[in-house]
This record gives sequence, structure tokens and C-alpha cells, in this order.
Amino acid sequence: MKELKDRILKHGTALNETVLKVDTFLNHQVDAKLMYEMGSYFKEYFKNHGITRIMTIESSGIAPTAMTALQMGLPMVTLKKQKSKILNGDVYQTTVHSFTKVMDYELTLSKNYINKDDRVLIIDDFLAHGEAALGAIRLVEEAGATVAGIGIVIEKSFQAGRSKLDEMGYDVYSLARVSKLGKDLIEFLD
Ligand code: 5GP
Repeated sequence: MKELKDRILKHGTALNETVLKVDTFLNHQVDAKLMYEMGSYFKEYFKNHGITRIMTIESSGIAPTAMTALQMGLPMVTLKKQKSKILNGDVYQTTVHSFTKVMDYELTLSKNYINKDDRVLIIDDFLAHGEAALGAIRLVEEAGATVAGIGIVIEKSFQAGRSKLDEMGYDVYSLARVSKLGKDLIEFLD
């Protein structure tokens, strides 16, 4: 997505060789028009995947996912990050490790918002080591539903997430694929 890559080059900051900061349009201030355009790219790619429900992870995945759900006319569910396990049978939960925040959290999905015949599109803001996406996949599959695709706004292709998901056979579509980060340096794969 050219507009996104241009924006990353203009406003993105590589904090170091692994972390990209995009607070001006995605993670803090949100450019709703750009989010809407992301929605049309995801819709175009996933339109024939038989998607019935779109899922994301709070909080930065919400804006692009809401715009995609709006454009595809589908229900959207936000997976919650909780500090501790909920000890009742009403939710699916799985532990996810965040390398950026150096912490674990419980990714949580209410049983009310998934059915076993759902074909789910998972969307997130970043793909790095794949921990968040793999956690979301575990919840969808524990519910007996199918992961029909994974949409990523910014993939850091030099980290392991993309190849893990490819090896597992998931259909991953990223709007921007960053191949290298460094001081004053942001490069794309394609
Ligand atoms: P993963 O689980 O794939 O290791 O990391 C994905 C999650 O970590 C994303 O949901 C995102 O919130 C956060 N994340 C990973 N890398 C970055 C990054 O370079 N910049 C920002 N802003 N968030 C990141």
C-alpha cells in the first residue's frame, strides 16, 4: 500500500533496529482516512475468503479493523488483554508474551462472540515475532472456528512472525513489509 509506505517514511521513527514508532497516524494519533483506505485494501484481498467475522487485539488494531469491518459489512470482535486468568467457563483465554513490552498477558475472547462455523479474519497493527497473532489463532481454533486469513498493517519481515505463520499455512496479507530498521533507516521488502 503506497500511501502507507509513504507515511511510514515521512512520519515513522525507528527507535532501534527492531522497533518502529508510528504514533503520528496509527498507535497514538489516528488518521481515520488512512485507516479507511487500509480497510479497502483488506477488503479487496480477502473478499473471496468467505469471512464471517473480523477479530483484532486491543488497542491499536481496533482502528484499521473497524474500518475493514465497516467496508466488508461484517461483525468485529476485539480480543481483550487481561492481566490474570478469568476462572469461569464463559471465555477462551491464552497466554501471550509481548517482546516489545517484555510482559505476558491473557488474551481473552467471550464465547458469546464466536461460533464454530465462523471463518475469521484476524487483523493487527504489527507483526513481529507472531506471538499476538498465534494467540488469536489459538482462541479461534479452540472455539472450533476457522482462521480464514490474517491481515497485518505493518509486518517487520526480518523478525520471525511471518515465516512462522507461512509455515503453518495461514494466508497472511501485509499492507507494508519492512525489511530493515536502523538509525534514520527504514527499508521495505517490496
Ligand atoms: P508480536 O506478537 O508479533 O511479537 O508483536 C506484535 C504486537 O507487538 C503488535 O500487536 C504490536 O502492538 C506490538 N509491536 C511489535 N513490534 C512493534 C513495533 O515495532 N512498533 C509498535 N508500535 N508496536 C509493535
